[in-house]
Amino acid sequence: MENLSEKIAQNYRQISEQVEIARLKHRNPLDKVKIVVVSKRKPMEVIQAAIACGIHDFGENYPEEAAEKISHFSGQKLTWHMIGHIQSRKAPLVASNFQLVHSIDTFRIADKLSQNCKQFHVDLPVLLECNMSGEESKFGISAYQRESWEQVVAQVAEIATLKQIKLVGLMTMPPWSEDPEASRPYFALLRELKDHLNLQLPGLNLSELSMGTSTDYLAGVKEGATLLRIGTAILGSRVY
Ligand SMILES: *Cc1c(COP(=O)(O)O)cnc(C)c1O
Repeated sequence: MENLSEKIAQNYRQISEQVEIARLKHRNPLDKVKIVVVSKRKPMEVIQAAIACGIHDFGENYPEEAAEKISHFSGQKLTWHMIGHIQSRKAPLVASNFQLVHSIDTFRIADKLSQNCKQFHVDLPVLLECNMSGEESKFGISAYQRESWEQVVAQVAEIATLKQIKLVGLMTMPPWSEDPEASRPYFALLRELKDHLNLQLPGLNLSELSMGTSTDYLAGVKEGATLLRIGTAILGSRVY
């Protein structure tokens, strides 16, 4: 336990330092970059150890697994991020447990989530997941071709009418690569899409960009990420 906590603290410190150096070099001085520690498939002891290191933002992919953890740690002041694909029937669990959803990928799920938020009397900030590569295996609204952005604007305008959820930014997951720099064009395109949406839809004011994981978080920082989703590089590899 002692060792686990030390290891996590060391990883977190190292990554935070690298992120800060890249932020100072590539970003505006006042830009904020938050590390969300992805704890999916990690047991309570690991999360406990992470909390002991001063970590309070956690990312989870599976609503049932997350709900158990969230209730277990309900005495602590933590922020829980939903980063996985949401099935319609799991929307109530998401609405009642999380503080930020990164993975809205259709109007349909946004609408369902908004209805559930109304039931639970909560307002939920959300990000739209965008597919910036065209890979068929990826979730997200298809936005990899600029020619499709007019449709994206229309979809976003529709989601923005929903009362109980508030669209605050975009998220993407680039194709897997060994080279972190390979992610940069996808991240840059997501940032451009955010700017485009803000121009086309006054009043929208998207501010968040969730991009970068264990392999490419520095690429994320360089291209304007405000949220990094880092699992294995901080908590160690996951056992399935
Ligand atoms: C699992 C997951 C992560 C974290 O991945 P690591 O490689 O462990 O950093 C980030 N984002 C999403 C959407 C994930 O599913």
